[in-house]
Amino acid sequence: MNPRLSLILPLLLSALSATGALAQDKGSVDPKPLPPLANPNDPKVAAKELFARKVLPAAMPTRVIGFYAKGCIAGAEQMPINGDTWQVMRLSRNRNWGHPDLVALLKRLSVKAHKDAGWPGILVGDIGQPRGGPALSGHASHQIGLDADIWLTPMPDHLLSREEREETSAVMMVRDDRLDVDPKVFTPGHLMVLRDAAQEPSVQRIFVNAAIKKALCREAKGDRSWLAKIRPWWGHDYHFHIRMACPPGSGECKGQPSQSGGEGCSASDLAYWFKDSIIHPKPPKEPPKPSHGMTMAALPAACKQVLNAPDAKQ
Ligand SMILES: [Zn+2]
Repeated sequence: MNPRLSLILPLLLSALSATGALAQDKGSVDPKPLPPLANPNDPKVAAKELFARKVLPAAMPTRVIGFYAKGCIAGAEQMPINGDTWQVMRLSRNRNWGHPDLVALLKRLSVKAHKDAGWPGILVGDIGQPRGGPALSGHASHQIGLDADIWLTPMPDHLLSREEREETSAVMMVRDDRLDVDPKVFTPGHLMVLRDAAQEPSVQRIFVNAAIKKALCREAKGDRSWLAKIRPWWGHDYHFHIRMACPPGSGECKGQPSQSGGEGCSASDLAYWFKDSIIHPKPPKEPPKPSHGMTMAALPAACKQVLNAPDAKQ
């Protein structure tokens, strides 16, 4: 690795890891199970080490506990890896678990993508771990079963093999200069899929790269109120991120205020994202220390119960 890149990379990784841009990481058809922890009860153990070792949900009723970036979920449901209009990618990650309402939403959205955009279907990236919680790689959020990444690459018209699901890369939608989308790959179908997702009442916000937001602002016709839910965020140039609001009746779920009414399309709304310092960030003077991650004490207390519950029967 060249020295400049080795300086920039940790910064990029820490910036991107908050965004799920690492969904591009390739996987393996034959992932090695994580080795057992020497002292799993040590309070200093990172919560991500504990949650990553749970391969099944907790045998508990569905409960969303905490915030998108600090919480866990009991009673998560597995998104089936194949449907008529969807396929799940990167199966080795075992992150196709989410709140039953989110799983239902993704299935519904895949049908709309097929009908409205003419896509064979959608490719589903990370949802969450079987019990949610922090993950060893990839995201700060996706912890309470209400976040999902959808590839901006349409599902192909055939069933992908296990290898293809691990190895295939999604298509970059943003032009090399980062100022706009690449018109060769970003199509009216992408607008329709994003609009379908944003028009779902339970969707709280959607993260896309700023260049994609700019393109949607330019191209959306008719009712544009859904644009308010589409927010620019780092990464998200290969996939978009759907975030649901707390489902009704989940009193332990800490949501976010909904968007202000505006479309977020004015020059001043977008200016920040196209500043040179944002598009081409300078490397930090000192490389950031790798973060250990939060411990169980930082999560809501009920997440201990979720972590320690027996496996749900499948
Ligand atoms: Zn995401």
